Parts: sequence; C-alpha cells; structure tokens
Amino acid sequence: MGLKIKLGLAAGLILPLLALFLLAHGCSPKRAAVQVVNASAAVFTGFPVLEYHMIGRPEGRWQRTPEKFRSDLEWLYANNYYPLNLRDLLNGFGAVPAGKTPVVLTFDDSTIGQFNYLAGGKLDPDCAAGILKRFHDQHPGWPLKATFFVLIETNAPSHNLFGQPEYAARKLRQIEEWGMEIGAHTYSHDRLDQVSSAAARRSLERETAFLSRFISAEIVSLALPEGKYPPDLSVLSKFKLVAEVAGGLNPVKFDPLHIKRVQTIGPEWRKFFGRRD
Ligand SMILES: [Zn+2]
Repeated sequence: MGLKIKLGLAAGLILPLLALFLLAHGCSPKRAAVQVVNASAAVFTGFPVLEYHMIGRPEGRWQRTPEKFRSDLEWLYANNYYPLNLRDLLNGFGAVPAGKTPVVLTFDDSTIGQFNYLAGGKLDPDCAAGILKRFHDQHPGWPLKATFFVLIETNAPSHNLFGQPEYAARKLRQIEEWGMEIGAHTYSHDRLDQVSSAAARRSLERETAFLSRFISAEIVSLALPEGKYPPDLSVLSKFKLVAEVAGGLNPVKFDPLHIKRVQTIGPEWRKFFGRRD
C-alpha cells in the first residue's frame, strides 16, 4: 500500500509538470494523436472507382468531354485523391500517401476517344490517354494510373481495341509501359448471364490469350458487361478483381469480386461527391 501512495504522490507532481512542459513546447497530446492517425494512412473510410465510357463531344449519358474529363482530374487532385490501378488494390493501401484518398479511374469498351493517335502517329491531346499523360507530366505527385477494360472484336469497330487496328498493339504496349493496367471486358462484350458457361469461359480465355501476345502483366481485373454475373461463378475464377457498373463508393474492407463503381455523370458526381461538375 505504501508503494502505491508514493507512486500516487509522484504522479500528482509529475503529471502537472508534464502538462506544463507540453504546453510550453506547443505539443499537445491531441496533436500527437492526429499525427499517429495520419501515419497509418487509413484516414479515409471509403474510396471511389470511377467508370468512364466514351471520351468525346458532346457530353452525354455515356460520353464525357475532354474538357470535363480534365476538370474531373483537377477536382480529384485538388481534393486529395490519389490514383491507383485497380490491380493495385490487391496490395492494400500502403502506397497511398497520408491524408490522401485512393481513386481508381476505369475506362470501359476501349473506344477510340480513350486512346487515339492522330495522323502521323501523334498522341491525340484530347483523348483520355493524352489527357492523363499530360496531367501526370504537369502534376508529378499524380501517378499515371488507370485501368482500361478492353474489347477485342465487336460489331462496332470504334470499340475494338481503341478503334484503330493498325495501332492496337502499340496502344496496348504503351498503356503497359506507362504503368497503367489492361483489364478484361470479354472478347465481344458478351453478357455473361446470357451465354452458356462454356461460351463465357471461352470468351474470357480467348480475350486474355489475345492480350497476352502484347502485354506481359497478368490480366487480373475484369469489368462485367452491363454488370451481369454468370450463373456459374467458377467462370470468373481466373480473375482477382471483378468490377460492377454501379453501387457507389467501396468500403476500405472492400469485396474484390464485387467492386462497386461510380459513373462519371453529373448526378453521380453530385450524389457521391457533392460536386457540381
Ligand atoms: Zn461495356
């Protein structure tokens, strides 16, 4: 008991002195606690996976103008978002700097406005790849990251591997070389809920085999055409991340086989970000 009293007396003397010391040095315990939280880098409670389709004019339900796409990047940058490829999510959020919120920019359907070469092979500054590259060059703290869910062969030529057959291989290699990701979207935009399991499997295998001729990274991400899952989920077993078409923000403890997305149209920017685009 005597020892306890001594300790109590000592604490009674030391604690006020410690408080005075901390106040004198401008270092309150409260501020120290905030620093610890920041160091964990997990201050965000959810993160968006943005979904783009066509980039071009005019603005529409499935099309974002180059100007609006640029303003999306400016807004994300100004609001402390930090881009990742979808596959980066498999490694957790360790790469996200303290105080930033991860965001994944995804592009469906490999339309020409996402990646276009002008006459002579010059990168179109108004295509998504051109805008992303320029934005990265002007903002070194903004990594060149995005995931392109591509189609190989459909009856809409402008959707087949970015619509310029003569440049298809070069574009795939360029996306990989820049550090961005190629993901699957089936060979021909096949609705996986409407075809047989064998056909669904064949479509996905055919697509990844085709892409592997041009890129070295394993294809681990898939965007489901129209968000439809196959009845037999074993069809998706080769993929580690499966993206849906809607659903809003993902929680920090997200489900990799049910990645929710936010469509990049005015009402969704308002609903999920409180932003008037
Ligand atoms: Zn699609």
